[in-house]
Amino acid sequence: MACQRHPIAATHRGFCAACLLEDALAPVEDNEPTPTKRLTIQVPLGRGARADVYLVRRDGPSPRLLRLKTWHRAADVQFLSRFGQLQKELESWAARDVDRPLAASLDAAGCPSVLTEFRQGLPIVDRVRSGRLAAADAVALLKPIGALIAQAHARGLFHGSVVSGNVVVDAESGRARLLDFGLTGLMEPDEEPSVRASKDLAGIQALSDSLRLLRIH
Ligand SMILES: [Zn+2]
Repeated sequence: MACQRHPIAATHRGFCAACLLEDALAPVEDNEPTPTKRLTIQVPLGRGARADVYLVRRDGPSPRLLRLKTWHRAADVQFLSRFGQLQKELESWAARDVDRPLAASLDAAGCPSVLTEFRQGLPIVDRVRSGRLAAADAVALLKPIGALIAQAHARGLFHGSVVSGNVVVDAESGRARLLDFGLTGLMEPDEEPSVRASKDLAGIQALSDSLRLLRIH
């Protein structure tokens, strides 16, 4: 049965991801005098074979938009401790242009959900396709992302899924921004660091190649 407060959210065997995340959210994380953990699901941002993503509003005196990702398959029991570790590492890195994960939960079936910051922005490839960004400028925006990935690797951190949907142009700053940092790795704990590193580099290369192709046509 769907959750009455979050009717469009995926429910796995009666457990609503948004309700579980309300419990997992830190109440003082945004320093509001009367912090609230209440979440309202706005719209689905994407539905995929492996996971769904929703835009979520965190209610309160100054409402914030967040991004909820919920996987269709179960994770192992260490998922939440890996998430806590990732969260700490990303906090101490303090890289701008990387969205921070805020909370995670597992439902009764073991399917994880993660709540991250949300910043408005479109995938860099879509910006070029729609003619709103010159391909040459997009390739230039990708440069700092390549440097960011190298910095992450030097810290032992891996993005894990550098694909076009995870590299967006931030509507506010105009800079490229990485979504879902490290989340794929939470689902694949046994992957070797060297494999993760080469996947990241291949992802950046593929993205840069596809932007260059768009430039030619
Ligand atoms: Zn709910």
